[in-house]
Amino acid sequence: ANNSNTQQWQAMSRDHHLAPFSDFKQLAEKGPRIITRGEGVHLWDSEGNKILDGMAGLWCLAIGYGREELVEAASKQMRELPFYNTFFQTAHPPVLELAKALAEVTPAGMNHVFFTGSGSEGNDTMLRMVRHYWALKGKPNKKVVIARENGYHGSTVAGASLGGMKGMHEQGDLPIPGIVHIAQPYWFGEGGEMTPEAFGIWAADELEKKILEVGEDKVAAFIAEPIQGAGGVIIPPDSYWPRVREILAKHDILFVADEVICGFGRTGEWFGSDFYGNTPDMMTIAKGLTSGYVPMGGLVVRDEIVQVLNEGGDFNHGFTYSGHPVAAAVALENIRILREEKIIERVREETAPYLQKRLRELADHPLVGEVRGVGMLGAIELVKDKATRARYPSDKSVGMICRGHCFDNGLIMRAVGDTMIISPPLVISKSEIDELVEKARKCLDLTARALLT
Ligand code: PMP
Repeated sequence: ANNSNTQQWQAMSRDHHLAPFSDFKQLAEKGPRIITRGEGVHLWDSEGNKILDGMAGLWCLAIGYGREELVEAASKQMRELPFYNTFFQTAHPPVLELAKALAEVTPAGMNHVFFTGSGSEGNDTMLRMVRHYWALKGKPNKKVVIARENGYHGSTVAGASLGGMKGMHEQGDLPIPGIVHIAQPYWFGEGGEMTPEAFGIWAADELEKKILEVGEDKVAAFIAEPIQGAGGVIIPPDSYWPRVREILAKHDILFVADEVICGFGRTGEWFGSDFYGNTPDMMTIAKGLTSGYVPMGGLVVRDEIVQVLNEGGDFNHGFTYSGHPVAAAVALENIRILREEKIIERVREETAPYLQKRLRELADHPLVGEVRGVGMLGAIELVKDKATRARYPSDKSVGMICRGHCFDNGLIMRAVGDTMIISPPLVISKSEIDELVEKARKCLDLTARALLT
C-alpha cells in the first residue's frame, strides 16, 4: 500500500537530497531506505517492514523511540519560549536547569558546561577553549592537540582534523596544523604477538613519544574516546588508561574525553570516564544527552579550568543554538527518565551482562574472528581465517554484505570495514536481545553463504 509513497520519496532523494557520508551516485541510482516510525527499540520503513534498531539511531537513543514525555517537554517549551539566545549575559530557565542536572551526573569536579548544537561543535569549542586556557596561564605556545588514528570527533574542519579517519583527511586537505595523531589501542588488529596488557602499555607510550617529539611545552591537550565507537568499538586493554593518565599528569597536558558515544549510560556507567576511573579536564557530549530527539551537544569543563577562564574576560566563541531552550527542555526530561527509571543501573546489572554473554556465543561462527564489547556496545570482527585473523580482500566488502543481509532481515548493524557494530537503545529487553542475536547469527550465515558463491 505504501509502494507509491516509497517511490515518490526516493525520487525526492535523487532529485534534491545530498546525504551525509553517502556515495551520491549510488544513492541516486538505488534510492535510500525510507524510515518512517519508531517505537521502543524498533523502527518501521515505508514498506511496513519492522526493524530492530541495533544502532540506536546513530548511537543516540538512550531511552528508545516514542517517549511521550519528551514530546510534551518540547511542546510546552515551544509554547512558552521557543527560542532565545544565551549570548551577552542572558539565559533562560531550561538551560540553567539542564546545566545543574548535568553537574549532578558528570564526574566530580566537572560542574560547568558550554552548550553547542552538536558533538562536532563541542570539539571545535574544546580546541579553542584549551588554547585560550593555556594563553591565560601564560603558556601561549601550548597549542597542539594530540588525537588518535581512527578516532571520530566530528565532521567540521576541526572535528574531522581531530578525528583520525584517513578517508576524511584525504578530502579537504586535513588535518589543519596543530593536530597530530598517534596509534589506537586496537589489540585484535594491531597487537601482533604482544599480550593485550603489553600492547596497552605500548600504545600508551606512543603518547609519550609524541609529546616528546612535539615538545611538552607545545602540547595543549590529548583527546580520546574512552572506547572508540565509529572506529570499530576499540576497547583498550586494562593497562592503557592508567598509563595514559600517568603520562598526561607528568607532562601537564589536558585530558579531553569525547563522550559523545560513551556518555549517558552506554558503558553501564553515566560516562565512559566513570567506567575507566578517568578524570578528564573536559568532556564532549551529544547524542545520548537528548536521546537524539533534538540536536544538542556540549563541552563539560572541570572547575579548576573554569576558574582560570573566569579571569580571562571575553571568550569569543558560541553558536546561535548554544543552549537552545527546546533542546534543553528535552535533554532535561531525558536525564530525568534515565535517573528515575534507573535505566543505567539496569544496563549495568542486568541487560549488558546478558547482551555481552549472548553476543559472545557468536564467536563460534566460522566467519567470526573476535566478539568484543562493554555495556551496550558490541563488535563482531569478520575474518577469512579464524586462526591467523586473515581478512577477506577489501574488494569483497564483507561488512557491507553482512549489513545488507541484516537490513533485509529486520536488523540494523553498522559495518566499519569488516567489523559489525552493535549499539542498541539502552532500554532493550532480554527478549529483544535474543531477537538481536538470533537475527545476527542468521545474517552471518547468509554472509558466509554469499562469500562461498
Ligand atoms: N564524537 C564522537 C565520538 C562521535 O561519535 C560523533 C558523531 N558520530 C561526534 C563526535 C560528532 O558529533 P555530531 O555528529 O553531533 O557533530
